[in-house]
Amino acid sequence: MKTATAAITDHTVATVCPLDCPDSCSLEVTVEDGRITAIDGSRENPVTDGYICAKVRRFGERQYGPDRLLYPAVRKGPKGAGSFKRVSWDEALAVVADRIREARNNWGGESILPYSYGGSNGLLTQDTSDATLFRRLGASRLARTVCAAPTGAANMALYGKMPSVAYEDFPEAKVIVIWGANPSASGIHLVPYIREAQRRGARLIVVDPRTTPLAKRADIHLAVRPGTDLPVALAIHRYLFEEGYADTAFLAANARGAERLRERAQPWTFERAAAEAGVDSAALRAAAEAYATTSPAIIRCGWGQERNRNGGSASLAILALPAVAGKFGVRGGGYTMSNSASWGITRTWIGSDEPPTRTINMNRLGRALEDSNPPIRVLFVYNSNAAVTTPDQRRILRNLEREDLFTVVFEQVMTDTARYADVVLPATTFLEGYEIARSYGPISLRLGKPVVEGAGESRSNAEVFGDLLERLELRHDNDPRGELEEMLAVLAQLPQPIGGELSDRGAATPPYGGRPVQFRDVWPLTPDRKVDLFPEALDAEAPVGLYGYQADPGTAEFPLTLISPASERTISSTLAELPRPEVRLLMHPDDAAARGLSDGDVIRMFNALGEVRCNLSVGAWIRPGTVSLPKGLWRKHTANGYTTNALVPDSLTDIGGGACFNDARVQVERAPQHST
Ligand code: SF4
Repeated sequence: MKTATAAITDHTVATVCPLDCPDSCSLEVTVEDGRITAIDGSRENPVTDGYICAKVRRFGERQYGPDRLLYPAVRKGPKGAGSFKRVSWDEALAVVADRIREARNNWGGESILPYSYGGSNGLLTQDTSDATLFRRLGASRLARTVCAAPTGAANMALYGKMPSVAYEDFPEAKVIVIWGANPSASGIHLVPYIREAQRRGARLIVVDPRTTPLAKRADIHLAVRPGTDLPVALAIHRYLFEEGYADTAFLAANARGAERLRERAQPWTFERAAAEAGVDSAALRAAAEAYATTSPAIIRCGWGQERNRNGGSASLAILALPAVAGKFGVRGGGYTMSNSASWGITRTWIGSDEPPTRTINMNRLGRALEDSNPPIRVLFVYNSNAAVTTPDQRRILRNLEREDLFTVVFEQVMTDTARYADVVLPATTFLEGYEIARSYGPISLRLGKPVVEGAGESRSNAEVFGDLLERLELRHDNDPRGELEEMLAVLAQLPQPIGGELSDRGAATPPYGGRPVQFRDVWPLTPDRKVDLFPEALDAEAPVGLYGYQADPGTAEFPLTLISPASERTISSTLAELPRPEVRLLMHPDDAAARGLSDGDVIRMFNALGEVRCNLSVGAWIRPGTVSLPKGLWRKHTANGYTTNALVPDSLTDIGGGACFNDARVQVERAPQHST
């Protein structure tokens, strides 16, 4: 459970990890002669417990690695070649400001598209001075939907994002359901609590198409076909209602819409749902029985189940289970989803005066770049590696090559997206600046401080967007100047005592002691404080109605489901520049045998959108009919320079406009020899 923690020395600095991971670890960073020599966990955040993931232990390799961007640069070769000429900050920002001005004068503010997501998940590096700049320009708005949009919509509609069960309370549970999550790779600090619960006798149910490390230790593993979580969850609802396990007293007092949910679940018998999901109906029944008859029972709802055409309804159906089964009101009972809303923070510092410009769904970047009403002439990418993380990759790359598109990439390292930039601006890392890290696993809010000087000429977001405000004559007198002022301005606007505590001691006291009991300490934040089991607005939004199932998009030509789950190597695509073992496509032995393929073969995986070439790994730890290549790969990781997103359609989830990463259907065959 624990690893050795670096000894605290005069050179050890306390900070926090703000990267896109649920845990927000408290860190101890060792600095010698102005350079970081070690990064480890501390015990300031009790959940961190003195250890961190292998990913961030290696962050120093990004900090000082050969891919680090140290100076502003302008393109000198073809787009995508990654060939640049060093320039001064003044020259680089003058070019950027000129091109923004030109685009706005000729095509209007909407011809400018800012593109960002989660490179740092803190409160300072997104939706601060960047939002001020792009709002004042009247730029197109970005719907940040690449992750958590369907689960966020579900959690908001059902419960108003009520705070959820803390990791520390998992040992109290007697049944734990891990649905669409792999904490062994992402959010690792949950794992010891699950193991402790198992030591105390809790039963573990895992719903995942892969035999994850926790699935190996589970009492029941439902290796569902991706996209079928919805019928599986509805079959459990049907069982609860039909067999008398629905908590009618709780529902009458605390929920609305139970009858409508019951109607939509009615067609899904165990047999029908199991056939659709490709699992054993007896195992599904056993999972439902265990959940229905045991308390405390908790569901950890992840994000795997949201990444398909049914993802919003699936997330609602899963999150609705504890309400129907009456699992709230006890420690260790209820659900765990994102806890980022637990602090009640709204970004008041960017104001409410957002201009009514068009909104572009980030999952359709390629399509948006082809839109001509008005055309996008300036693409400003920061905190994101769009060239590899966004669906329909080939369309995006085609458009990034266009000479009439001016692309700015503000980044820490030379990413695949940066290689297509006209101007590259070097960004500081979270170890070189301030950040306010709000966890979405444990309820934690901590202040990150600069540990070392910014490498080379790298600058913070506040400096760069502030400079552009000045150059574009959009600065107001009361705008903060620089990162420190911006951080202080945000702290001043946080609800009290949160802001004061962060200023004084670098951490805020979590509400409810960080361990709220749902329906005892916290209640739904819906208008009537009730669970809405059938939100009418979502019923209208979903193409076949709320809890409506859309069939698998597989065809005889492209029968295999491709998934791209999080791995132990990267945080989305962050840190993918670092050396790693060869990346292989994982395939079940039955599927390999049917295609005459063996472990280590060079394969081509393809569909109508594109093709990926890499080596094959054959293993029974994935369900038949599904293949897997890790999330967050860069172009260098495959033989032909495309990642899974070259095969992912830019279709959207039923609710929330999310990405359908797991709706890619593909065929796999041996690659012809001597070709890439
Ligand atoms: S990525 Fe997650 S587990 Fe790793 S250090 Fe950051 S918060 Fe902790």
